Amino acid sequence: MIEKIHHVAIAVRNVEESARFYTERLGLGLREVKVVESEGVRIGFIPCGETLIELVEPLSPDHTVAKFIEKRGESLHHICFQTPDIRGEIAGLKEQGCTFISEEPKLGADGLITFLHPKSSGGVLVELVQQAEA
Ligand code: ZN
Repeated sequence: MIEKIHHVAIAVRNVEESARFYTERLGLGLREVKVVESEGVRIGFIPCGETLIELVEPLSPDHTVAKFIEKRGESLHHICFQTPDIRGEIAGLKEQGCTFISEEPKLGADGLITFLHPKSSGGVLVELVQQAEA
């Protein structure tokens, strides 16, 4: 079961610089900036209602997000859907023929995550998250 859009991720060169549009123009707040070493990125979260905008800054030039920016510029990177049961969701989607970048969920910035392969999701990179218990 999908509960909501957890976040929309945007690939950026610098979190603070890109956050300015959202903070200064839209009046939203940059809540938290953190390095996720395991993913090789810095992330800035900007809450907007129940959903977050996630600015993703690669820490090295050979990171997949850096290559994404090289090709497409700073732009929409992926959409993340929240589920209370990520393993159940993965199993159900696999039964329907979907493929994953990794079928084994791993610990991300905000809980267990995995990514569907974009060829299973209309060319859009889709992430699933099961939030860590608060
Ligand atoms: Zn994400």
